[in-house]
Amino acid sequence: MQPPRGTRDIFPNEFRKMLKIFGKMRKVAELYGYEPVETPAFENIKVLTAKSGEAIKEQIYYFKDKAGRELGLRFDLTTPIARIVAGNPQIQLPIKWYYISRMWRYEKPKEKGLRYREFWQFGVEYIGVKELYSDAETILTAIKVLNSLGLKDFKVFLSNRKFLEGIVRSFGIKNTSDVIRVIDKKDKLERKEFEDQLIKVGLDRKYLPTVLKLVELNGDPDYVIKRAEDEIKLNELAREGLKEIKEVVGILKKLNVENYIKVDLGIARGLGYYTNTIFETFEIENNKKVGSTLVGGGRYDNLIQILGGKPTPAVGWAMGIERIIQLLKKKNLIPKIEPIPRVIVLPVTSDLLVDAMGISEILRNKGIGVMFYDKLKKGLKIANKRGIPFAVVVGKKEIQNGEVVVKNMKSGKEITCDVGELTGVV
Ligand code: AMP
Repeated sequence: MQPPRGTRDIFPNEFRKMLKIFGKMRKVAELYGYEPVETPAFENIKVLTAKSGEAIKEQIYYFKDKAGRELGLRFDLTTPIARIVAGNPQIQLPIKWYYISRMWRYEKPKEKGLRYREFWQFGVEYIGVKELYSDAETILTAIKVLNSLGLKDFKVFLSNRKFLEGIVRSFGIKNTSDVIRVIDKKDKLERKEFEDQLIKVGLDRKYLPTVLKLVELNGDPDYVIKRAEDEIKLNELAREGLKEIKEVVGILKKLNVENYIKVDLGIARGLGYYTNTIFETFEIENNKKVGSTLVGGGRYDNLIQILGGKPTPAVGWAMGIERIIQLLKKKNLIPKIEPIPRVIVLPVTSDLLVDAMGISEILRNKGIGVMFYDKLKKGLKIANKRGIPFAVVVGKKEIQNGEVVVKNMKSGKEITCDVGELTGVV
């Protein structure tokens, strides 16, 4: 029997490394003032469809429970957190919350792009501030989280939904979301297919060159912004969007993380709720993006209102844990873990079983992790195989003198020591 398609089991050795990575992530989030939060795995379908409409059902798990309620598995935590804020107007804003949790999406699983149906995200939401310093600070936090894991070869690609919205509207398109969705898929489509899809969703052929230029416009912030101003006809909305990009970049420059920042005007972000700043983070090799998006985020100033709350500005991001781990593996940055347990306690004969359990307790009470096993020979084999550093062997003669034999499993050396001195030896 296998786990369902798109899911996977996480064995202890891997999960322990993940927990260490989570620890580093949490530390940075908390340094930046974020508190942890968790929400239900499933939501009323109305919450999940509130922003994107029924279309999102294509991409999520949904079902009826035995009482006929329509429910769906959460596909992110931004939406449930926005629901919480909408439903609890007494919460004093601003709030800064983070999460490390599992999400579910009905996607086509891909080994290579690391796309799963069940996956982990670490994310932050900064809710209640409309000023762009909060956009800059969340981006700064993402950079610092990646740095704390030892990662340096990455860039944050910044753009703005208002800018994109303005451009697409200037093509005479009112319902812009379809065109934006196609632009979001640009890297996955062949050029011809990309053009065909744009035309299919209503783009006039004469605007194709502008779109093609737009999706190519990325690089150092000043250079890209200047080219956009010089080479693309910008309406009021697009101008406002570009101004916001400039402001966020300006703050990040002052915070000394300019070397991580690029502007990429071809970024659209798939999820429908973004309103202003949007950004994606990629690994960089030889000055080029490689792999799939590590972190995605942006500003979503309408979502909380759409979910029935007061108009509330918000900005946040999420990073895919599986993708981060893959990159850490590649860069040899996976944290080391000590074997569990540190000691295996083994009675020589079965009449010493309870004595040996007592010794185990003495060690545990001193904070040393112990596995007790009742068969000496097999116990030593287990210790060898699992890399347990010490075996404590409880024999009749020794225990009568208040002593045990300690075997260092690596060197094979054995010493006899007082039970009272055990904690100094293992
Ligand atoms: P999103 O919520 O779509 O903006 O995604 C944020 C991040 O979560 C992405 O940049 C990925 O790193 C990760 N992610 C999204 N979808 C998946 C998936 N199906 N499998 C693994 N990671 C994912």
